[in-house]
Amino acid sequence: MSLIVKKFGGSSVANAERVFNVANRVIEDYKKGNDIVVVVSAQGDTTDDLIEKALEINPDGCSKRELDMLLSAGEQISISLLAMAIEKLGYPAVSLLGWQAGFKTDSNYSAARIKSVDPERIRAELDKKNIVVVAGFQGTNKFDDITTLGRGGSDTSAVAIAAAMNADLCQIYTDVDGVYTADPRIVKNAQKMNEISYEEMLELATLGAQVLNNRSVEMAKKYGIELEVLSSLEKKPGTIVKEYVSMEKMLIKGVAKDNNVSRISVVGLEDVPGVAFKLFNMLAAKKINIDIILQSVGRDGTKDITFTVPKDQRATTIDIINNAKQSLKFIDVFFDDNVSKISIVGAGMETHPGVAAKMFEALFDSDVNIQMISTSEIKISVLIDINDSEKAVNAVHSKFID
Ligand code: ADP
Ligand code: ASP
Ligand code: MG
Repeated sequence: MSLIVKKFGGSSVANAERVFNVANRVIEDYKKGNDIVVVVSAQGDTTDDLIEKALEINPDGCSKRELDMLLSAGEQISISLLAMAIEKLGYPAVSLLGWQAGFKTDSNYSAARIKSVDPERIRAELDKKNIVVVAGFQGTNKFDDITTLGRGGSDTSAVAIAAAMNADLCQIYTDVDGVYTADPRIVKNAQKMNEISYEEMLELATLGAQVLNNRSVEMAKKYGIELEVLSSLEKKPGTIVKEYVSMEKMLIKGVAKDNNVSRISVVGLEDVPGVAFKLFNMLAAKKINIDIILQSVGRDGTKDITFTVPKDQRATTIDIINNAKQSLKFIDVFFDDNVSKISIVGAGMETHPGVAAKMFEALFDSDVNIQMISTSEIKISVLIDINDSEKAVNAVHSKFID
């Protein structure tokens, strides 16, 4: 007998037929004598629809506490429906909200971090032979207020339960049959991987491959939880995410695209020491996530600094900079939302010179202009025009992987 944690994403529970599909797959493993905890996301586009509703009330943005209260409702719907479907098929099930399942988080509403999971209630329900259906994406903070974990956070809920309960297996079911070398919806020749290391998966997820939430991979790595990413509709093996993977010849593990980026340029800053410090320290204090940074060479006593932030932080960033015009002393600040970040990831590139040149050649051959570049040991990212993003992903993918 094993303890198995299974997570099903929004598209896997999008309608009644899909909910029954999930119920059947869960029951299959339950009938073999296993203890089953199922984590589910909100049905289909429910979370997006709830965000729309909030914007109807306040287009300038509601308070994050109330937004979390609203968004957590999506998962409440799907857990109850799945538990009902399991019961209808003749098996015992119980649905639990995040707090009932013991999820404690910090108070960073809309992007809360899990502080602890106390699985006492889940254990008690398993002892009663129930299939336990847990709402992903949510917990409560020290004030007993509802928090959510950030978009795609149900993956992290599943891994957290697997870690807290020392589960034998953690399976992430989704609408593709594994992790591919690029988003299979964009790149026709993308190849499915049998396995991928935590490190490479974490980079891919952070750089935009939404098949796994990056925090879930971080947590899986920390607690040594092996993940399997697999299809909720087809029955075949998926991709295993684990510490060590057998050496493959492939230099590049994958290509990722992230359209959730804005580029901000502060021009005409004084070319004196401490300017970058002042600017980024101010933004750090407001928890702005800075990514690629480019500073121009000083000329005539001034310089420009360009950097990227997530799209939803662009307006706040511009406000912070404009409010500091007196102390920062710059001429103007501009932004561009029509940009996309394309990245290649692979632990092998560290020891192979010429990888960057090869990537840039692929972009040149496709007539894609590079606006910014950033590199680390195992990734290279470029910022390009959003309209070129799919063309660029395909060009880079075929250069390295096809
Ligand atoms: P879920 O609702 O199950 O959490 P998501 O939409 O969050 O599913 O993630 C699955 C999607 O991730 C796929 O439909 C696919 O388009 C996208 N995706 C992006 N990059 C990759 C990749 N490298 N491999 C597989 N899928 C990817
Ligand atoms: N329902 C949430 C979202 O859409 C959480 C998740 O899907 O993992 O982001
Ligand atoms: Mg997801």
